[in-house]
Amino acid sequence: MVRPCGSPISSSILSSKAGGWQVQIPQRVWDQLLDHLKSELPREGVGVLLGSGTAVRYRKLQNVAHDETHFRLSPQEWVSLVHALEQTGERILAIVHSHPASPPEPSAEDMAGFAWPDAYMLIVSFHNPNWPQVRLYRKRGERLERCPVQIMH
Ligand SMILES: [Zn+2]
Repeated sequence: MVRPCGSPISSSILSSKAGGWQVQIPQRVWDQLLDHLKSELPREGVGVLLGSGTAVRYRKLQNVAHDETHFRLSPQEWVSLVHALEQTGERILAIVHSHPASPPEPSAEDMAGFAWPDAYMLIVSFHNPNWPQVRLYRKRGERLERCPVQIMH
């Protein structure tokens, strides 16, 4: 079940500025993200946005799934990412993946598999290849709530 974002959520990753947008992605970061996800087509692409409230940078990750309708992170790569972030003090703002041919709605698997409590899930859909759609979700209990996201043009 997907619902709009309700009451304010935990503190630390929210940016209080900029009128209610919970996540902002600068055009430059968005372009990098989109270039990577497009380069992975027809497979799902995965990556992370780093930052707090505003995405500071995008880091691509490997999709180690063996088919085109799922993504799976490399456990080794994930561990080394988390380790690297401990060194730099950066935060994971959102875990990003693409839906090459389906709308940007979380699949049952997306819901079940998303366990990162402090991060958002960002889905980019190429359902309409001329118009990539982006949606942001946050896990609350067993549900995913849809949250606002803004690309800063
Ligand atoms: Zn998905």
